[in-house]
Amino acid sequence: MLTLDDVTVSKGTFQLRANLQVPPGLTAVIGPSGGGKSTLLAAIAGFGPTVTGRVIWDGDDLSGKEPGQRPVTMLFQDHNLFPHLTIAQNVGLALAPRLKLSVKQSAQVDAVLTDVGLPGLGGRKPAALSGGQIGRAALARCLLSDRPVVLLDEAFAALGPALRAEMLTLVRDRMAQQGRTVIMVTHDPNDARSFADQVLFVAEGVAHPPLKAAAFFYDPSPAAQSYLG
Ligand code: ADP
Ligand code: MG
Repeated sequence: MLTLDDVTVSKGTFQLRANLQVPPGLTAVIGPSGGGKSTLLAAIAGFGPTVTGRVIWDGDDLSGKEPGQRPVTMLFQDHNLFPHLTIAQNVGLALAPRLKLSVKQSAQVDAVLTDVGLPGLGGRKPAALSGGQIGRAALARCLLSDRPVVLLDEAFAALGPALRAEMLTLVRDRMAQQGRTVIMVTHDPNDARSFADQVLFVAEGVAHPPLKAAAFFYDPSPAAQSYLG
C-alpha cells in the first residue's frame, strides 16, 4: 500500500495537499487542469519541489530518497527515450542499467516488444519510429520494470482512441491485475470509467482519497460533479 501522510508540496503560490492511501490496482487521477495532478505524481516519484509529510511504501518511508532509489517507474507524455540508444536498449534499461543484457533478458525485451505491437523493431533508433510506436516502446520499458509502483502522466494523451484503448488494456491486464500499484493521470474521465479500479480526484490543490470507480461515478462529490459536467 502506498500512503501519503499529511503531504504538502509548495510550488510558488500553489500548494498541493494529500492525505490518502492508494491500494494496488489501477487508480486513475482526474481533475481540472492546473489542479495538481502532475505535482502529486512528482511527489511520489521524488522529483520536483520539496515535500513535507511522508510518502510511505509498505512501511518504508521514501522521504529523502532519490527518485532512482524509490520503488517507482514513471512514464510521461513526452516518453523520454534516449535518442542515441536503440529501442531494444531503451527498453532493456528496465532490466540492466548498464545495457549489458543476458541472453534471457534480451529474449524478455523481444517478448515485451511483441506484446506492445513492435515485433522486430528493437534494432531501430527512436527517430525511426512514429509517435505512437515510441509510446508503445516507452510502455514496454515500464512493463518490463519490476518496480511495484507505476506512474503514468497523460502518457497516452497523444494517441488516437483505438491505440489508447489498446495501451490502457495492456496497463490494466499486465500491470494492475498483477498486483502493481498503477497511478495514471488522464484528462479523459471515460478512461477512468472504462479501465480504472479507483478514481483519485485532484482539484484546487487537494488530492482526495481514491474511491472505487463505480462509486465515484455513481455519486460524485459536488467538486467532482462540477468537473465532470
Ligand atoms: P495538473 O497536472 O493537474 O494540470 P500541475 O500539478 O501541473 O497540475 O500544476 C499545479 C499548479 O502548479 C498549477 O496550477 C500552476 O499554478 C503550478 N505550477 C505548475 N508548474 C509550475 C512551475 N514550474 N512553477 C510554478 N508553479 C507551477
Ligand atoms: Mg499535469
